[in-house]
Amino acid sequence: MTGEEKDLLRKKMAIEVVNLKESIKSLEETTKPIPPDDAIGRLTRMEAINAKSISEASLNAARLKLVKVERALGHLDDPEFGTCAICEEPIPVKRIMLMPETTVCVRCAEK
Ligand SMILES: [Zn+2]
Repeated sequence: MTGEEKDLLRKKMAIEVVNLKESIKSLEETTKPIPPDDAIGRLTRMEAINAKSISEASLNAARLKLVKVERALGHLDDPEFGTCAICEEPIPVKRIMLMPETTVCVRCAEK
């Protein structure tokens, strides 16, 4: 990976971190406790519970991704960064751009 690619990657990951933090914040809003039945009616409450569990799944995924991106950002200057953790071949920069949190190449990921 060239220094230029690394700089680009660093910027891209920093943006990703900001975006993830923002979506986590808004998802946290939508996963707040649901008011009791008498406040919103039973059917609406069921819908609210369904919507809430979808939001919770997205929230968990976003939190997990944030941890991974932040970790990747912290390891960007490591000599082994961008090297597949399994086969030790370089991971194509395009793949890292798409999935900064990845630690394996496409071939190993598909195994
Ligand atoms: Zn590999």
